[in-house]
Amino acid sequence: MKFLYSDTQDFVDPDFDFVGEKFSAGREKDHTDAYAHELMSEPPYDGLLVAMSAVRQAEGVAKSKVRYTTAQEQRFLRDGARRYLRFGGPRFKDLMLMGDCGAFAYVGLPRPAFTPQEVFDFYDEAGFTHGVSPDHIIFECDLSNPKVPRAPEGLPPEEVAHYVARVKDRYEITLDNARRFLQIVRDNDHPFEPMGPVQGWSPASMAQAAQTLEGMGYRYLAIGGLVPLKVPAIKAVLHAIRAKIKPETHIHLLGFAKAESIDEFTGFGITSFDSTSPLIRAFKDAKANYYLEKPEGRLEYFTAIRVPQTLGSARLMRGVKDGIYKPESLAKFESQALKALRAFDAGEASAEAARTAVMAYHNEIEAPLYSDGARCDKKLAEIDKALRETLEAAPWKRCNCDICRDIGIEVMVFRSNNHNRRRGFHNLGVYHRHVQRTLRDTP
Ligand SMILES: [Zn+2]
Repeated sequence: MKFLYSDTQDFVDPDFDFVGEKFSAGREKDHTDAYAHELMSEPPYDGLLVAMSAVRQAEGVAKSKVRYTTAQEQRFLRDGARRYLRFGGPRFKDLMLMGDCGAFAYVGLPRPAFTPQEVFDFYDEAGFTHGVSPDHIIFECDLSNPKVPRAPEGLPPEEVAHYVARVKDRYEITLDNARRFLQIVRDNDHPFEPMGPVQGWSPASMAQAAQTLEGMGYRYLAIGGLVPLKVPAIKAVLHAIRAKIKPETHIHLLGFAKAESIDEFTGFGITSFDSTSPLIRAFKDAKANYYLEKPEGRLEYFTAIRVPQTLGSARLMRGVKDGIYKPESLAKFESQALKALRAFDAGEASAEAARTAVMAYHNEIEAPLYSDGARCDKKLAEIDKALRETLEAAPWKRCNCDICRDIGIEVMVFRSNNHNRRRGFHNLGVYHRHVQRTLRDTP
């Protein structure tokens, strides 16, 4: 089972100066910054997934932070995806480079934003190894398997017929596109492996779609619409699909948000899946920011140490403007916190001293915000609990990855992009090894 990382243009300055908090001299973001696979001696994934809607500008396609600029789009197509992503050469040549349409970005349109011909041209020009036909997302997944889509309860009666027609329309559009897309791929001598997208309103309708795609000639299916589903619903979908298709037909799970439960999905003959969650959780999750694998093979999670940048935090700067904070006082506590953490990492100070300094900074931040002292104490106690656990376990000292060996405790500090993304890279590496081990340990 291959773990693909869905590209969100995450790179860092490889020579970032953490103590001086400065980018390296001569840094040019698009050229000298490094992706996770460049920074780590062992690539932390088995392939990359790039969404066409992130690269290609089109009417009605939602803007996202991942969106490439026009200049980047041109360079992407001119140089090809491998070269653009610096994912070429002998180290990476056998790793998958998969394209899909990023159907979330045009979910509000009546039809997909790109035609099968446009999508084929994009994959072909950029040199992908695998490419998904343009699909249209169906969000509903009714586990009771109704023959026709069922409108959600509470929908006004006059809208029900329209709703049902819309879901069926998306189902048909996805299959029609797949038929045309496969023909174009065949007419052009198969420059990449075409993938048939499975969309449906229930496990049974998805299984029917999978069988239809297989009948067209697809050997690799991409299961969509899984993002909002819980583990049991995803399993119901996979059971239904596997019962209808040949054992040798490959399955990819698109946007698999339950990546942490991958051990529950080893029995479905899944060839590949993509996820961003190990990287995203490094800075979006309230608690689980840093991954580590326990000796017996389960993942454990630690909370990063928040040391916000006084000058870089919109929240703190607003407080300064409103007269809540004194900037020089914040800066003093901030710098003492960082100094104490680094001294602890170097073996020159105790965990207790580091904890005290970090908590002093948090006290400085939180105390002016509360009129109720008890509520403030509660908030600080929460921060303290997570901080104590992280410092006592010092998990970065146990990690042998390039990131942790290179920057030590900085990986644990919740601060700039250069801190937080590196923690995400570390998580990808831990997660990738976890997937490999889970597969090895499963009979
Ligand atoms: Zn690490």
